[in-house]
Amino acid sequence: MTYFPIFLKLQDKHCLVVGGGPVAARKTQQLLAAGAKVVVVAPEIESSLMKLKESKQIHYLEQLYDESCLQNMELVIAATDDMQLNDDIAKQAKLKNLLVNVVDNPESGTFITPSVIDRSPVIVAISTSGASPVLARLLRARLESLIPSSYGKLATLIARFRDKIKHRFPDMKERRQYWEQLLQGPVAEMLYAGQDKNALTLLEKQLEQESDLVKPTGEVYLVGGGPGDPDLLTFRALRLMQQADVVLYDRLVAPAIVELVRKDAERIYVGKARNKHTLPQDKINQLLVDLAKQGKRVLRLKGGDPFIFGRGGEEIDLLSENNIPFHVVPGITSASGCATYAGIPLTHRDYAQSCTFITGHLKDGSTNLNWPALAQPQQTLAVYMGTHGLDILSRELIKHGLPESTPAAIVQQGTTSEQRVYLSTVKDLPEISNQHDVKPPSMIIIGEVVSLQEKLAWFSPPR
Ligand code: SAH
Repeated sequence: MTYFPIFLKLQDKHCLVVGGGPVAARKTQQLLAAGAKVVVVAPEIESSLMKLKESKQIHYLEQLYDESCLQNMELVIAATDDMQLNDDIAKQAKLKNLLVNVVDNPESGTFITPSVIDRSPVIVAISTSGASPVLARLLRARLESLIPSSYGKLATLIARFRDKIKHRFPDMKERRQYWEQLLQGPVAEMLYAGQDKNALTLLEKQLEQESDLVKPTGEVYLVGGGPGDPDLLTFRALRLMQQADVVLYDRLVAPAIVELVRKDAERIYVGKARNKHTLPQDKINQLLVDLAKQGKRVLRLKGGDPFIFGRGGEEIDLLSENNIPFHVVPGITSASGCATYAGIPLTHRDYAQSCTFITGHLKDGSTNLNWPALAQPQQTLAVYMGTHGLDILSRELIKHGLPESTPAAIVQQGTTSEQRVYLSTVKDLPEISNQHDVKPPSMIIIGEVVSLQEKLAWFSPPR
């Protein structure tokens, strides 16, 4: 290890930044964030530094650097574009035993600055010991996606409870177990999901329990897995998928997404092909409750978004009745995913000022859709579960005034490597579907915006 990592306390310490360009400005911002009193010396400074000067957040010396600037300083950053000058500053600072950093020349100073992930009070600092700042930045970007944005909030909350927890679990081993459970369990998840009050209540309740080891509290995450491409998962979805004890998923969830679930999690397939549900909906609802009552972290993984034709509302209804903590993670809904991957903007200033999501899951040929409204011009229709009712859809829309020639598209298995886009008119939809033997899952998009597809298509999976 070439460098020894430390975290410096800089509140109210005098720090000198030499230079007035963008690098100096960035370093100044970082020092200010740590509460330092920053003096900037340079004959000229860029506008962001000027603003800091005007709002009296920094002290600006409008002059060339000379050694006297080092007086009373505790830390120095040489950030001019003159390498020689930077080196001289470092030498002089070192003679005075000051901490000094030279940007772009780690050898010359006494310390280097890391790439930082700030979830204050949690700070993650990454260094490549000066070998490659870009590598450090890339690594940082990866970690940023893994660490929940409200990690700091969690740290702040539990800091308040440290003594209580110590008192409640005098035995070190038990205490550690409790901490582990706390940091990976419902209290943490509730905080990340913005349920601060519930998190606090649950934490307090846990600490009041009599038994030696706190019984784990089960919880349910209702998670949208998006339309198929695993890259379209949210950070939160992925994180929960990797920590759940048991996962219930249905046919619509792409195998590539199920793959990302924690390897040793129990996986329960609950089916849901059209008309042949492997598990009836009420059984799924009950299963979620039962598993959570066993203290498990249960992930209900759904295609697209759980609240868009996903029966998500029904599933959490029973959870709520049973007082089981749950939260819902939105996903990219297939209308949005499929349209985008097909090169069809759902709205467009010239062609469509609104977009309506409808279900084409038509029972016995009868429907209660509002056909006159759906046949209006200047809108886009995104039809879910429509493959089996295309003849009715086409007939009714035309009957209610939509021109036969209105462009339409069928997007089959959108966003995946199997995606197929079939262009049609509203009149020819049933025929085009037969011709290509279209199968679910497919999204039907109807409206003038479909005509843009030819120009805008960008995604072309191998055939
Ligand atoms: N909650 C889901 C929708 C469930 S209804 C969501 O928000 O997307 C199921 C319907 O979604 C399917 O019949 C089909 O119309 C559509 N769908 C889901 N995934 C799809 C995909 N990859 N390609 C095309 N359509 C899809």
